[in-house]
Amino acid sequence: MDARYKSREIERRSLDVDGLKRSFLEWLVYSVGKDARAATRRDWFHTVALAVRDRLVDRWMDTTRTYYQQDAKRVYYLSLEFLIGRLLTNSLANLGITDQCRQALDRIGLNLDDVVEAEPDAALGNGGLGRLAACFLDSMASEALPGYGYGIRYEFGLFEQRFEHGWQVEYPEQWLQFGNPWEFPRPEVLYPVQFYGRVEEFRDSVGERAYRWVDAERVLAMAYDTPVVGYGGDTINTLRLWSARATRDFNFGHFNDGAYMKAVEQKVLTENLSRVLYPNDATEGGKELRLKQEYFFTSASLQDILRRYLQHHSNFDSLPDKAAIQLNDTHPAIGIAELMRLLVDQHGVTWDKAWDITRATFSYTNHTLLPEALEAWPVRMMERVLPRHMQIIYEINAKFLNRSKARAAGDNGRLSRLSLIDERGDRRVRMGNLAFLGSHKVNGVSALHTELMKQTVFADFHAEFPERINNKTNGITPRRWLHQANQPLAALITSRIGNGWIKDLSQISALAEKADDLVFREEFRRAKRKNKKRLAAYIARQTGVDVQVDSLFDVQVKRMHEYKRQLLNILQAIALYNEMRDNPTVSWVPVTKIFAGKAAPSYHMAKLIIKLINDVAKVVNHDPSVHDNLKIVLLPNYNVTAAEIIMPAADLSEQISTAGMEASGTGNMKLALNGALTIGTLDGANVEIREHVGDDNIFIFGLTAEEVNDLRASGGFNPRDVIASNPSLKRALDMISTGVFSPDDPHRYHPILQALTDGGDHFLVTADFSDYCQAQQAAMDLYRDQEEWTRKAILNTANMGWFSSDRTIMEYATEIWDVHPVKPEHPAETET
Ligand SMILES: *Cc1c(COP(=O)(O)O)cnc(C)c1O
Repeated sequence: MDARYKSREIERRSLDVDGLKRSFLEWLVYSVGKDARAATRRDWFHTVALAVRDRLVDRWMDTTRTYYQQDAKRVYYLSLEFLIGRLLTNSLANLGITDQCRQALDRIGLNLDDVVEAEPDAALGNGGLGRLAACFLDSMASEALPGYGYGIRYEFGLFEQRFEHGWQVEYPEQWLQFGNPWEFPRPEVLYPVQFYGRVEEFRDSVGERAYRWVDAERVLAMAYDTPVVGYGGDTINTLRLWSARATRDFNFGHFNDGAYMKAVEQKVLTENLSRVLYPNDATEGGKELRLKQEYFFTSASLQDILRRYLQHHSNFDSLPDKAAIQLNDTHPAIGIAELMRLLVDQHGVTWDKAWDITRATFSYTNHTLLPEALEAWPVRMMERVLPRHMQIIYEINAKFLNRSKARAAGDNGRLSRLSLIDERGDRRVRMGNLAFLGSHKVNGVSALHTELMKQTVFADFHAEFPERINNKTNGITPRRWLHQANQPLAALITSRIGNGWIKDLSQISALAEKADDLVFREEFRRAKRKNKKRLAAYIARQTGVDVQVDSLFDVQVKRMHEYKRQLLNILQAIALYNEMRDNPTVSWVPVTKIFAGKAAPSYHMAKLIIKLINDVAKVVNHDPSVHDNLKIVLLPNYNVTAAEIIMPAADLSEQISTAGMEASGTGNMKLALNGALTIGTLDGANVEIREHVGDDNIFIFGLTAEEVNDLRASGGFNPRDVIASNPSLKRALDMISTGVFSPDDPHRYHPILQALTDGGDHFLVTADFSDYCQAQQAAMDLYRDQEEWTRKAILNTANMGWFSSDRTIMEYATEIWDVHPVKPEHPAETET
């Protein structure tokens, strides 16, 4: 081998400063094609990313080869969303070469932080559900589990949010515009996916009735692989995302006249399938493109999974011993009918056997009880788009209802609730019921949510299959959300208890005894202050508002949704503003209210609440009579990168959803782990956070899920009475309705006021207002006592170990998937 080539081979693996530096200079020239003088920040980002990518390819292949050689059972996490964020910091930290990389760049005269800033945020998800999938990828790789993520390579991620005159405006998120150095296109990994057409019945070779799907339109799914680096860099798993391609018929076809341009147009239309992520965090009811996206990535993934399985096996009997498929919500639930189709129609497996295999292979995570978010596809659409699947669903349903009929004993209501078809109105396929029936395990995402699942949406199914529902409380990866995002606190923790917590977050409990240590408290506060300064600078840059670093940073960051009740928060802010103006001589605790979050573009009420927050902020921030004791900011374009700046700087974490409506929440976990105290309702995982951090270290207020249920059911709740009896609430609402915050359009907020009064206040904002204000007062009072506040903050961080997604993922692995860690075999690495 050529000596120069050989030395380059060594270079590609070198993890020391000199090796990295030489790689950077070489990559800049030979791959990015730039000279150091002309290189932009983005060029350097691509350079560094490509050089870092070199350092993980060997281990990535080792990992894949080990799984293959051991024929290990794999878990396949099917998710329509992966909210990943940036990958450079993550890859460096998990490979353990952040310092070396910083020094290597230093020697070239560059700052790592500037290079990191040039990476676009991979926002292939809406919010919590997509971010959970990303945390799970990190945890599977860090726990050495053979785990694959499967999803869609959207060309446009979640829209970019800007505010224009205080209103949300959406812009396309062109994250791939300058290329994506982390992905490996696999043009040879290509599967056909069909739509439309019709089903033909025929007799197979032994005279049995059989079906084939004919005259369908064909799309190709092409794979793009992204390596997923586990902590320590030992295991490197794969995220495989599918991109739509028109079939080759187009390339080879013969055209005449106008047919050529028509065909090109058709190609573009076909490839629209993976163009854009639906920007709704609930579901887009009845959108055909959405159904096609769901089937597209699910079918391609299943074909890929079966191909991999068949490399070692000649029949499907042991598929459930070699593959566990997790459905992240019902978005990939069509996979149950698709696996049946592949097994029965394409591989000649008998129906009953195929059904046993399918159920033993799939499991399903439910993420929400909101009725508008439960997917139900119109039967007529399903018949047209996926005719064979509709048949299969009817068949599954008929067999199931037949079996259940005996036990339902004439209870027809029960049978119609169990049915996969909702027969009321236009007939619809209930994807939740299909997912439940086709899975061996069904889980909720917090203890409360799982309990409510048993009592509400799946009550009948739970009676039928009492073993199937189980709970897996969500978690977050401590790598991204503490080790990488909060370096001041991470360094402080490591200085006292070592760095074992990064891999095993339960070790962080050793900090609890430091809560009484005055020196440690001082250092904890210093770390928080450093993060607050960074956030204050970010706020100034993004909004032009100057905030006091030593004010109480009161943070509500999450999607804008009525059930999350940003409205309750801004009403309390107005009430506080009035109190401050009424009592100018009182020494107030300075408060900075920080909001961030996107609204679905078609969700008018959520967008109106955004405008309200911006309007209130404008009035409050410019009113000299509050002496800067209250500032309100709404940061634009909330995403993972913004979250990484906001979470470490928070003092108070707003988790104030109407009880019973937030399935789990994970923002609550990120904030508490970073030493914020929670103000929250007994909803989702807040219930478990309270159990772990202790009742004294959290501000709980408001109605419980049971009380919410009773209040709504009783019909006796009258928000007008509540408003009339609470002068501070009444005054805040009167200010909104008289145009104090919208002098240009005094009636602007009529829909909000209407919803709170005549609308019956479905989210119980008025019902919880008074209790919420008291909890806020308690938080402000406590904040005066910085020693006591810090003590509680430390106890929050120390008691959040259980909320690591490593814990969650190991529960899935042992209780649902039966998948075990596999240590990759690395041949001697420096050998050439
Ligand atoms: C964690 C996270 C979420 C989920 O936040 P919740 O408060 O649990 O709704 C949403 N978006 C981003 C960018 C996140 O990082």
